[in-house]
Amino acid sequence: MLTINQLSKSYGSNLALNQFTYSFDHGIYALLGPNGSGKSTLMNIVTQNLKSDNGEILLDDTPIGKLGASYREKLGFMPQYPGMYPSFSALDFLRYMAVLKGLNKKKADKQIDELLHAVELHDVRTHRIGSFSGGMKQRLALAQSLLGDPEIVILDEPTAGLDPKQRIAIRNYIASVALNKTVIIATHVVSDVEFIAREAIMLKKGVISDSGSPYELTQKIEGQVWQTVVAAEEVQAMQEKFRVVNIQNGERGVILRILSDVQPTEDSVTVVPSLEDYYLYVFGDIL
Ligand code: ADP
Ligand code: MG
Repeated sequence: MLTINQLSKSYGSNLALNQFTYSFDHGIYALLGPNGSGKSTLMNIVTQNLKSDNGEILLDDTPIGKLGASYREKLGFMPQYPGMYPSFSALDFLRYMAVLKGLNKKKADKQIDELLHAVELHDVRTHRIGSFSGGMKQRLALAQSLLGDPEIVILDEPTAGLDPKQRIAIRNYIASVALNKTVIIATHVVSDVEFIAREAIMLKKGVISDSGSPYELTQKIEGQVWQTVVAAEEVQAMQEKFRVVNIQNGERGVILRILSDVQPTEDSVTVVPSLEDYYLYVFGDIL
């Protein structure tokens, strides 16, 4: 169990993280919030790449400062902006990281082979990282975070730069390895975590504004998500009057998805809320 108590961090007068408190057990936890909400700040503190001003982090009731290297051995981290030597091949890079993590060479080589297959880089494992696309680098960074089978995996925007097919593949892969780990995923892409997260934490300007299972959170706006079909000319007026969260061209007009506590129009019907609806409900004013 990873417990975070009253963690705060300021950059000058900018309070980026304010008394963050949460407990993480096994499974996937989504840290959701728009840019600037403090997600990376939290992840950098949890991975000891940044010092907090206040607060403490405990692993099974022991402060991580006391655990030292044994904490870092349990930790896998995919930073938001991973630095990777462009002249290394994917294989060199993973082997190098395995050495830094102090892993047994034979075991590491076997796992590296598996990971390269899992993130679909096995065919290009001897190619220079400098020749990789953003998505390929992203997948390599993910593979690196799972080296040594860490108990706690911290992923900062793991699907940034991936195409939809890769997003789904990576999402499913993360879900498959998360069963007996604590995985924390920071993202502003709700669809990446909606169906795999055990709990979602909504981080707004450094403060937890809400948290719970996706079901608990979406229940809060049950009856407030509507769908209606309007003519193209009416879309703008509807947007001025209501919080329109999705616009889709349909056969009989434009299908609007609307967040509203009253029925927007006579023919509006309620629909099952998604976590994305809830995200927009919470963050709509600062997007
Ligand atoms: P997120 O990852 O959710 O986008 P960040 O943790 O990167 O949020 O940023 C939170 C706030 O802290 C933002 O206002 C950002 O501008 C500020 N910030 C982040 N890193 C630094 C830094 N190294 N120096 C100064 N301000 C920073
Ligand atoms: Mg970030």
